[in-house]
Amino acid sequence: MKTIDIEYAIIGAGTAGLGAYSKISRKTDSLVMIQDGPYGTTCARVGCMPSKLLITAADYAHHIDASEFFGVKTGGTVDGPKVLERLRRERTDRFVARNLSYVARIPAHHKIEGRARVIGPGHLIVGEDIEVKAKKVILACGSRPVISEVFQPVMSRVLTRVC
Ligand SMILES: Cc1cc2nc3c(=O)[nH]c(=O)nc-3n(C[C@H](O)[C@H](O)[C@H](O)COP(=O)(O)OP(=O)(O)OC[C@H]3O[C@@H](n4cnc5c(N)ncnc54)[C@H](O)[C@@H]3O)c2cc1C
Repeated sequence: MKTIDIEYAIIGAGTAGLGAYSKISRKTDSLVMIQDGPYGTTCARVGCMPSKLLITAADYAHHIDASEFFGVKTGGTVDGPKVLERLRRERTDRFVARNLSYVARIPAHHKIEGRARVIGPGHLIVGEDIEVKAKKVILACGSRPVISEVFQPVMSRVLTRVC
């Protein structure tokens, strides 16, 4: 088992973890950021950013639908595959790419890939073979959506992830 003694351990390289990394790395080299799963952040990969492109497309579609009421003839249709193709292109080539290029510039000794488990105060195990002893641990491991019971009748239409 490899042991790393460090001042700061950040668990999670999402928006919160990268924000913490950006601040802490300016004042010390004694830190690691531990990430399980793909880099790129939930927000850019499957969350806020791509979902807003879908919502904007839906907004345009609604205007096509409603325009005749105001005397404006449009006659457009929604090209679903094209909407998704644009969403995926923007997501991959812009939102996530920007993020990955930031992560790529982070020195290798600041990054550990694997799932962290907290086994005691300031004491982590990553995967099976890395032990991290940190004076301060920052939990930036994200969250899962909680869907209220009032949505049960329409659960099949509730989306919490895109793509
Ligand atoms: C469809 C959708 C739309 C959204 N729209 C909006 C919006 O419009 N506005 C808004 O403010 N928010 C929105 N959100 C929420 C927003 O995306 C999240 O709140 C935000 O991305 C959370 O950032 P984070 O850094 O806390 O977590 P994340 O970006 O999820 O990062 C956490 C990371 O930690 C890793 N991790 C977890 N456990 C461990 C572990 N034990 N060891 C190592 N790594 C671990 C995870 O794999 C993950 O990569 C939306 C979310 C979704 C899904």
